[in-house]
Amino acid sequence: MSFESLNLIEPIKLALAAEGYTTPTPIQQQAIPIVLEGKDLLGVAQTGTGKTAAFSIPIIQKLYQNRDINRKGRRKIKALIVTPTRELAIQIGESIAAYGANTDLRHTVIFGGVKQGRQTDELHNGVDILVATPGRLLDLITQGFITLNAIEIFVLDEADRMLDMGFVHDVKRLITLLPKQRQSLFFSATMPDEIVKLASTILHNPSSVSV
Ligand code: AMP
Repeated sequence: MSFESLNLIEPIKLALAAEGYTTPTPIQQQAIPIVLEGKDLLGVAQTGTGKTAAFSIPIIQKLYQNRDINRKGRRKIKALIVTPTRELAIQIGESIAAYGANTDLRHTVIFGGVKQGRQTDELHNGVDILVATPGRLLDLITQGFITLNAIEIFVLDEADRMLDMGFVHDVKRLITLLPKQRQSLFFSATMPDEIVKLASTILHNPSSVSV
């Protein structure tokens, strides 16, 4: 199977070719059509399977196809990707930069442990896609730097690791702040009971993919 059969738009196909990708990985083959269709997704996959592209590519495609070419005023955050660590957040940001290189979509990455000034400046300039770790995200929401009311797609990445790191309350609180009407994608390497329960509070009629 090639990327040709996934109905991707030209700017993304060019970006994938530039990255040297020829064949979608199994999670990409299965997840990309589901996400493009607008369905919720439960993905059981580890890092290294290509799961970042599995959610980033269809998110970029949807936002690019629905972009408002007459937009006036600041961009609103349309896609929110929450991941447990700074390293993962940075990697996801790099992937989005690569796959979205031929689009005019903007993204930024926020995480704790550094001063917030650069991050709040970027948020102030307006982004379409925000990649965040939970603590800094809630902190900047509380301070009024981030508005979630335009979020169309929410991704919870590495959910099991999120719980292992003690982010369960942060994640649960975040969920209450998201628009009810949204598409949600939930990724975890393992599915213990607590994760199954958490997934059921976030997802609506999800399609499941396991690799
Ligand atoms: P991930 O599981 O998202 O952390 O991705 C693992 C690595 O695989 C990353 O370095 C990606 O750049 C690379 N990768 C993802 N999808 C593909 C693909 N379809 N073809 C070749 N490399 C890929």
